[in-house]
Amino acid sequence: MAIASTNPTTGETVREFDPLDDGQLEEKLARAAEAFRGYRTTSWAERADLLRRAADILDDEADDLARTATLEVGKTLASSVAEVGKCAKGCRWFAEHTEEILADVPHDVPGAEVFTRYEPLGPVLAVMPWNFPYWQVFRFAAPALMAGNVGLLKLASNVPQCALAIEDVLRRAGFPDGVFQTLLVGSGAIEGIIADDRVRAVTLTGSEPAGRQVGAAAGGAVKTSVLELGGSDAFIVMPSADLDDAVANAVSSRMLNNGQSCINAKRFIVHTEIAGEFERRLVERMEALTVGDPMAEDTDCGPLSSPDAVETLHQQVRDTVAAGARLRTGGEPLPGPGNFYPPTVLTDIPDGSPAHREELFGPVATVWHARDADDAIRIANDSTFGLGGSAWTRDAGEQQRFVNEVETGMMYINKYTESTPEVPFGGAKNSGYGRELAGFGPRTFVNAKTVWIA
Ligand code: NDP
Repeated sequence: MAIASTNPTTGETVREFDPLDDGQLEEKLARAAEAFRGYRTTSWAERADLLRRAADILDDEADDLARTATLEVGKTLASSVAEVGKCAKGCRWFAEHTEEILADVPHDVPGAEVFTRYEPLGPVLAVMPWNFPYWQVFRFAAPALMAGNVGLLKLASNVPQCALAIEDVLRRAGFPDGVFQTLLVGSGAIEGIIADDRVRAVTLTGSEPAGRQVGAAAGGAVKTSVLELGGSDAFIVMPSADLDDAVANAVSSRMLNNGQSCINAKRFIVHTEIAGEFERRLVERMEALTVGDPMAEDTDCGPLSSPDAVETLHQQVRDTVAAGARLRTGGEPLPGPGNFYPPTVLTDIPDGSPAHREELFGPVATVWHARDADDAIRIANDSTFGLGGSAWTRDAGEQQRFVNEVETGMMYINKYTESTPEVPFGGAKNSGYGRELAGFGPRTFVNAKTVWIA
């Protein structure tokens, strides 16, 4: 895949970049290893100051940074601005809390001083996707840099300007040379980088196939890995829920980032008593959304990231309908230029169809009917994914059942799943392993060293 910015709204390639050659890559890996030797000795206060300066730059330059993300990804400008703001919040949160999170942990051993000390690992490789080109990176970088590691970023090939902007922000914040470097390389270079002795760990956010390859490479090299993969999150609605609120949140969650987020609600599992009315209101609200130029203020849904993304999504919709699903609205790509797909609703989803077995990465909602809580839990768990999920009910007993029995890394009640610095984030089943953010973030890429002083 070429490393290039191609505007998904117009189809125009605006900039292309040459990938690093072997010599340039070697120079960057050597610089990372050298930078780690000095950076690991910096104090908590020094690192926190650097991150706070990065946060200030992100806030000051939010509009420019957001325009770059919207240009490369097609996400609405408002959502890009919000994403940059979240990165600043994440930097400040980890600047404030990491010293406490990584403080020595004493152990009660009579006659000896025994404790666990967390030490940084070294250069950590982050392989990240395009959908939240800033947040996915800062979600890793803020805790990892606070912990004393250094970062190497391989961002998706369609967002090179975002990748370079992040390196630039961190450099201007004052991080020493080599502490955070962007590697403009294709995915074919990743296995070799993971195998390099100087690289001590890897984190990937992306698709399941990419996760399997990176996880296998990390295992082969005996290195820590974190995988945040896809999802097909359930959104369960029971009769006691406020239906209007549930439908409004269903649309907000499904349409987040033009429908291209791992934690979008994707499968709407609705009690039969209210399913007909839920579907009617869902279709009405999806049809009322404005699809168009993501730079325009009144746009709700911009283009998908690439022509391939439209083709893949449309094939999944076509195959699901061919298998017997009902298409209630949308379902045909919009005329070009640009990669536009309309808000779409499918009901009566057949077993084994793509909407049942696969992740739909775009603005397509699928609705399922459940007879009762047991049936809702069965449908929710009938997926290879287990990232997030939500349930909408005022019944305390049902709330506890959904929390305990839905097999996901995150379960939200009367609120849809979100990612925010103070709350752990990650999946179960084929959605990956490891946790990011909150206390888990800084503790992921560290050596927990046992110290015994007799
Ligand atoms: P990809 O997995 O194709 O790409 C993600 C990153 O991995 C990119 O940097 C890509 O580089 C790289 N990559 C791709 N294949 C390989 C490989 N074989 N070895 C090493 N690196 C590789 O995913 P998309 O960018 O298409 O993102 C969409 C997918 O990611 C969806 O399934 C979505 O659910 C999931 N995702 C998960 C999230 C989570 O937090 N759990 C968040 C966001 C998305 P290149 O661009 O050069 O191919």
